[in-house]
Parts: sequence; C-alpha cells; structure tokens
Amino acid sequence: MSDERSQRLFEEACDLFPGGVNSPVRAFRAVGGQPVFVARAEGARLYGADGRPFLDYVGSWGPMIVGHCHPKVVAALRDQAGRGTSYGAPTELEVQLARRVRAAFPSVEMMRFVSSGTEATMSAIRVARGATGRDGLVKAEGCYHGHADHLLVRAGSGAATFGQPDSAGVPADFAKHTVTVPFNDVAAMEDAFAGEQGARMAALILEPVCGNMGCVPPLPGYLEACRDVTRKAGALFIMDEVMTGFRLAMGGAQERYGVTPDLTCLGKVIGGGLPVGAYGGRRDLMELVSPVGAVYQAGTLSGNPMAMRAGLATLELLGEPGTFERLEALGARLEAGLRAAAGRAGVPVTVQRVGSMFTVFFVSDAGRPLRTFAEARTADTARFGRFFQAMLERGVYLPPSQLEAAFLSLAHSDDDVDQTVVAAEEAFRTIH
Ligand code: PLP
Repeated sequence: MSDERSQRLFEEACDLFPGGVNSPVRAFRAVGGQPVFVARAEGARLYGADGRPFLDYVGSWGPMIVGHCHPKVVAALRDQAGRGTSYGAPTELEVQLARRVRAAFPSVEMMRFVSSGTEATMSAIRVARGATGRDGLVKAEGCYHGHADHLLVRAGSGAATFGQPDSAGVPADFAKHTVTVPFNDVAAMEDAFAGEQGARMAALILEPVCGNMGCVPPLPGYLEACRDVTRKAGALFIMDEVMTGFRLAMGGAQERYGVTPDLTCLGKVIGGGLPVGAYGGRRDLMELVSPVGAVYQAGTLSGNPMAMRAGLATLELLGEPGTFERLEALGARLEAGLRAAAGRAGVPVTVQRVGSMFTVFFVSDAGRPLRTFAEARTADTARFGRFFQAMLERGVYLPPSQLEAAFLSLAHSDDDVDQTVVAAEEAFRTIH
C-alpha cells in the first residue's frame, strides 16, 4: 500500500541496494507489498514520500522514545552542527552522557561508546572472552544481538546444541563456539553451563525482555536463574539492553527486574536517533579494554559529538518526572484496547507488552502466552501480514514483521492510541 513516488523510488533502490534497502526488515518481505519511503517525521508521525501521514509504532526500531524532531533534540543538534560534527578527540559531551548512563545503570561502572548495537555486543563478548580466557558463548533462541559472526547462529531444536551458522559467510569454526538455548527455559540454561561444556563458556548474552521475536517477557525468576547459573559457572552475564535500556525504565530491564549483570550493552535510545551504542559494566572488566588493557576495540566516530548531543537531550527529557509512568499508561491503554477490539472482531490474539514495547500475536486460541521462540513462531505470520496491510491503509505504521516488537513514544497521545484501536478493530474484521 505504498504511494506512487515510493514505488518509483523502490524500483530504483532495488537496482542500488540488495532488496532495495539498507537493512533487511525494511523491505516488507515478511508482510508483502513495498515499503513506504519516508520523507520526514514529526512527533508520533511519519510522512511518506507523497506526504501521507502514518502513526508510527516503529520509532526507528526503538530510539525515538521522545518522538520525532523533539524541539529540544533538534535545537541541540543545530547548535552542535555549528561547533563541529566530529573531532576524533575526547569531548566533555562524552563525559556528560556517560555520567547519565552510570547514574541510571549503577552496574555500568565504566563504559565505552561505539556507533551501533552490533559493535556494543561484539565488543562486550570480546571483553568476556578476554576476561575469562574462554571462547564459548551461550545465547537464547530468538534473541538478536546484531550481526557479528558468532551471534548469527541458529538454535538446534529443543536442547542446547552447538550452533550452525545462520548466515552464509559465517565460518563454521566461529559458529561452533555458540550454544543456543530456548528463552525462558531454566533447565536448558543450566545444561548449557554444566560440566565440561560449562567450563568452556565465557558468557551468556541475553535480551532481558526479548523484542526480536516479538515482545516476549522473561518468566518470573528466569533472569535471576541466568544470574545464578552464570556466576556458578565462572562465566559472565551480558545483558543486551540495546532495546530495553532507557525504554523499560531509566535503568532498563535490570532496574525493572532487579537483576544485575556483569556487562551491559546499550544503543538505540542513548543516541536519540543518531548512531550510538555503548558497552560497559564492572570496572575490573572494562579495565581490560585498550588502551588500559589488552582487549582491543576502537572507532573513528565513537562518542560522536552530534550523537552525544542527541542522546543527552533525549535522556534529559526522559529524566523529567512521570515519563515512564506515562509510557506505562499509554501502553496499558493500547494493550487493553487492542485486546478488546480483537475480541469484538472475533479474532484470537495474544497481546504481549512490557512498558512501551508490545506485540499483537495472531494465535489459534486467544490469550495463549508465547514464551519461547518456538512458541512465538507458531503465530500466524500470513494473518499478521494482512493485518499489517489493513493498518497501513488506515494510516498506522507497525513493524513489518510478526516477530518484531512495536514501540510507543512520549509523543503518542491518548487520542492516537484510541484511533489506533478503532483502526485495529476495522483491520481485525478484514482479515477473517
Ligand atoms: N541488540 C538488540 C537487542 C537489538 O535489538 C539490536 C538491533 O535491533 C542490536 C543489538 C543491534 O543493534 P544495531 O542494529 O544498532 O547494530
């Protein structure tokens, strides 16, 4: 349901970029049709190439928590552009942003800014390997941690198995160090860290609330068990809070669930829509990083002043009283509205939500919880595709995949949410 201009641009883009896009999920392959090319955005809305507005529940896949073009973020960027966009030398801005990160995440005693979430997870794993002298890595099925070689590994079904590469071009020698376990399965986690195999594991990397198989919250006690198991095995617990950091609470999922990891990865919100990632944690671990220690990691644009300014302005706005309560209330309103609309339309769905992250899963029996990747994959992707298109026609832009979380922002109003619910009820009725 894209406009004519988007269609022409997409045709040319397909000749220039693989699949016409610079990141795969933007291509709409999971929902059919062609992508809307975005001309601009403001508040909670995107505007397509022909000027048509869409209520945005993607938020650039998480960063735009204060909405698009917030005047304070724009002013900070305008000011910084006049002072220089990159110096390749340290700045006070990095110190200021790091202060804010540490105030929100007490477990992050020291950190490094990088330019993407992928760089953050890749570097945190290098630190974990450097610290433990071990190569093995445990990850949960359905969690996405960026596209570094050892993280693009498919799970064996059921029990933990040594991984096979999930992408062409990943050496099997690399992938073999990654063990994959089902999310929310404590016994599988214990197995992965047991015995000789456990003694080879440097770390567990985990999305504490998974967003990359759709929104799948941790079961009560799961994160605590992950903490215990890794500690006992002499391995590190890396929480990948690239999506959840500064989104589920100021201090991310670790604040919300009260579980402290050894290392944390951040991204998305801390860059306020500019390219930023960060990794950090215990001082003794971060002091292993170059130039203090032997774990090498560097970046031409790391700590980029434009990105620091956008991040600082965004975190300042988030720090205002009541912001997370507001996001929670908006989320609850939307969740209840969507569930009721699906009920009235007679379409069975499960709505899963934590704070301002949510997914409407199309399931066979309404309300059945989806706790693992295997369960999430039972959702009806064809039905979701039809729902997605029906919502797009009604001016609501959802993530173009059943297995991705959607995001609310502080720019969404109660009216926006109520309009979305009205559109959703119509859309549910069209997909029988
Ligand atoms: N970790 C998580 C939890 C993510 O959701 C993502 C991206 O969606 C990444 C890491 C990778 O971040 P980036 O796309 O900035 O490389």
